[in-house]
Amino acid sequence: MQNIVEKMTINYSPNFSVNRRNKSEIKYLIFHYTGMKSDISAIKRLTDINSKVSCHYYIDLKGSIIQMVPNLYIAWHAGKSSWGNDKNLNKNSIGIEISNPGHEHGYKNFSKIQIKNLIKLSKILIKKYSIKNKNILGHSDIAPLRKKDPGEKFPWYYLYKKQIGIWHNYKLKNRNQYYKVISNELQKKFFINLKKFGYAVNFKNNTDKKKIIKSFQRRFRPELISGIIDIHTYNILKSLI
Ligand SMILES: [Zn+2]
Repeated sequence: MQNIVEKMTINYSPNFSVNRRNKSEIKYLIFHYTGMKSDISAIKRLTDINSKVSCHYYIDLKGSIIQMVPNLYIAWHAGKSSWGNDKNLNKNSIGIEISNPGHEHGYKNFSKIQIKNLIKLSKILIKKYSIKNKNILGHSDIAPLRKKDPGEKFPWYYLYKKQIGIWHNYKLKNRNQYYKVISNELQKKFFINLKKFGYAVNFKNNTDKKKIIKSFQRRFRPELISGIIDIHTYNILKSLI
């Protein structure tokens, strides 16, 4: 496991906050996809002083890991974000960018080597900073109105099997559950549960509402991102809280 650290290269980004933080302030691990056409363009952006964005670790298309900001400095990867009572998660998180063109440029499966190395890196960080499984999140979980990454192709279930992050234990009983819309009362309950679970539920209109439902589905029901609260989606969330 130590091997991965030795193989890591360094390409520091100027985009971080100058004050060092304490080890104990690190509480979250946040996964992203780059959403850029190539590694070259993504690395250029993340290390360009004008972009004002960065991450702690970058995993390129070949699975190689680049450190861009040391762990005890705050990288600028999450933007306006929240989870539970925590706001603006940059200050208490480590951000990992995984190279993938994303929804805008031809979203594709993450490669085996990318995921293999992501698991190794995550295990080191989880241990070092005592990060709880429930605090391992995607960018779209903490900024559902703005972000789709790392998206429905990100293997959350596989990671859960490797002791990284969480998964639900609700089993689909019948495929009709994918399409069975629930009552207004249960829909309200769904959003109450969603908030209890951690998501910021502050939608202004139906478009926002759909985005939040989709964020939840990207994370826990990746096979069907409908933006509709069907009975299956409802029960998955219920099993999580
Ligand atoms: Zn992101």
